[in-house]
Amino acid sequence: MGDAVKWIGSSLEGGEARTAPVFDPASGEQTGAVVLASERDVDEAVARSRNAWAGWRDASLTVRTGVLFAFRELADRHRDDLARLITAEHGKVLEDARGEVARGIEVVEFACGLPHLLKGEFSEDVSHGVDASSIRQPLGVVAGITPFNFPVMVPMWMYPVAIACGNTFILKPSERDPSPSLLIAELWREAGLPEGVFSVVHGDAVAVDALLDHPDVAAVSFVGSTPVARHVFERATAAGKRVQALGGAKNHAVVMPDADLDAAADALIAAGYGSAGERCMAISAVVAVGDGDPLVGALRDRAADLTVGPGTDPASDMGPLITEAHRDRVAGYLESAATEGADLVLDGRHVKVPGGDSGFFLGPSLVDRVSPSMRVYRDEIFGPVLSVLRVDDLDRAIELVNANPYGNGTAIFTRDGHAARRFRREVQVGMVGINVAIPVPMAYYSFGGWKQSLFGDAHIHGMEGIRFNTRLKSVTTRWPEPAAGNEARPIELHFPSGDRR
Ligand code: NAD
Repeated sequence: MGDAVKWIGSSLEGGEARTAPVFDPASGEQTGAVVLASERDVDEAVARSRNAWAGWRDASLTVRTGVLFAFRELADRHRDDLARLITAEHGKVLEDARGEVARGIEVVEFACGLPHLLKGEFSEDVSHGVDASSIRQPLGVVAGITPFNFPVMVPMWMYPVAIACGNTFILKPSERDPSPSLLIAELWREAGLPEGVFSVVHGDAVAVDALLDHPDVAAVSFVGSTPVARHVFERATAAGKRVQALGGAKNHAVVMPDADLDAAADALIAAGYGSAGERCMAISAVVAVGDGDPLVGALRDRAADLTVGPGTDPASDMGPLITEAHRDRVAGYLESAATEGADLVLDGRHVKVPGGDSGFFLGPSLVDRVSPSMRVYRDEIFGPVLSVLRVDDLDRAIELVNANPYGNGTAIFTRDGHAARRFRREVQVGMVGINVAIPVPMAYYSFGGWKQSLFGDAHIHGMEGIRFNTRLKSVTTRWPEPAAGNEARPIELHFPSGDRR
């Protein structure tokens, strides 16, 4: 490691800390090393967060709103800095990174409405002289654990809402692209958020497990792969915490014979190959209803036209994958698809990127005549591989989507309102698009999948986020009239039985 390597997160005190390398995926070079937190580091962060909670919980709604607005302004001013950090460590093209930041800031804007969002309910005179009300109170220390593919947006799904609700928040971002979180921490400080209300702990499974077990962490928001989501859910609920754990995906787009073929093909190319397929809402399975040949032709022509290159080059449509190991794993699915009898219409392993021999590139790949038993269909690939399955009718298409263990996002392309309506009603998936390939809900709705794509009850951000980050308290109040105070009333041990006082 030369001088060019930057240490992220901490100094290497005593030389005992474990580290993980950080790469520029476009050049394949190591550009940094992130120091991985120990259990002791997590203990310290939780203690700081817990201490800060006492003050933040009591900060008025006006004070909290002011800090959120200031943070929103700073995040807005630093959009480009955030996007550049994303591209440098994740590899996605800069314009896509800008889009990621924009989607994240929308959640901050949602959270700026906290005085309205946190209003309780009040009913006067539920009984004679009795009022009922409900209020939502913060939980305490909330931990967020996030994946590599959206190093700015996914954490922003969590902390603006958690902090707006009066919690303190500890972010454990992915160790693969750790730098954007440090800029975010700096922006919170500049916005006037008190010390300890937002913290970043860099680390790996050791830090995650320490957060899951820690008695002073009240709730855990997790986003990542399904096996880790399941682990997080089981371990943190066993420790008595509130948990939402969003997992992996296998998203299907059903293309009906009456669909606008060009519009559908354009949308599927963007949804399949955008961010090199490293999106939990990427379409990875196209279900062609009826004759699939025209659709496969349209997809092949468009995919073959995409430019693969570094994310910093404005000419690139698609950047590299996150690591060499991941690129090789994804490429392995092309091998297995061919062996299992699918048609390899476009093979991304042959991609040529000028000057990019050491980058973690894989070209757009299209696999036709895939069947549900093939590995390329069964597994979440998380790369630029689009599989086409062919079925005879809408019934078979819905059956196929519903038989899949994942249920994150799905889409139907059709001009038939009845078919679209049936699909919307019957499909067992959390987010549904009708002629929209990536139906990511806006910040003021909530994001979340079904089945193996989400463990826990609450979806993320929007009103589900407010509910997840607060505890409900119901209050029943009686203030007797002073004059009536001396009246003798019989003591009743039974529930009121219909005597409508
Ligand atoms: P990952 O599950 O490997 O890592 C996610 C987080 O968990 C990271 O912070 C990581 O450090 C930590 N982690 C990894 N292994 C762990 C372990 N054994 N024990 C405890 N913690 C561990 O996911 P990734 O590769 O960073 O991200 C890609 C995955 O995330 C894909 O499966 C994708 O579908 C999913 N994802 C889902 C959503 C969603 O909203 N459902 C959104 C984005 C990404």
